[in-house]
Amino acid sequence: MLDATDAPCPRCSHPLEVAPGTDTRVHECPRCGGMFVPRDVLAELLCTAELGGGLRESASRPGLDPVRYVPCPQCHASMNRVNFGRVSGVIVDVCKMHGTWFDAGELTRVIAFAAAGGLERTRAREKTEAGDERQRANEVHAQLTVIEAKDHMRTRLDMWEDFLRAVFFW
Ligand SMILES: [Zn+2]
Ligand SMILES: [Zn+2]
Repeated sequence: MLDATDAPCPRCSHPLEVAPGTDTRVHECPRCGGMFVPRDVLAELLCTAELGGGLRESASRPGLDPVRYVPCPQCHASMNRVNFGRVSGVIVDVCKMHGTWFDAGELTRVIAFAAAGGLERTRAREKTEAGDERQRANEVHAQLTVIEAKDHMRTRLDMWEDFLRAVFFW
């Protein structure tokens, strides 16, 4: 995998560094507090954070210049703006090839959204949009079973992976 260390922050151009206290594949901007999470690490990081460990994120800082499109730190292509979970209201920047950029505070908001049941709500909504009510009923039943096993790391990780695939069309 490419390493984003020393790549310029897509928000403020300060060189990115390995984020202390998290997975070494996660890079952070020490100036603006943004974080770049590689594609294959995101589900794991979200799952760990949701279960209460491993997330040490900078608080959001006011006064960032609004930048409509930010470049991927690895390939420098413009990233896509995605409403995380479609309904969370947290807009993140995604390079389908490399990973996701979270401005300071956004990762915390995504975790809060998931912890409040947003993961399940988004999945239920997708089924509704697909218009297959019978499958939706089965799915809701399956979700209830899954929620009962909520503390099971592997189950949650699978759910996050499904979720990211649906959200980012991976
Ligand atoms: Zn920055
Ligand atoms: Zn990229």
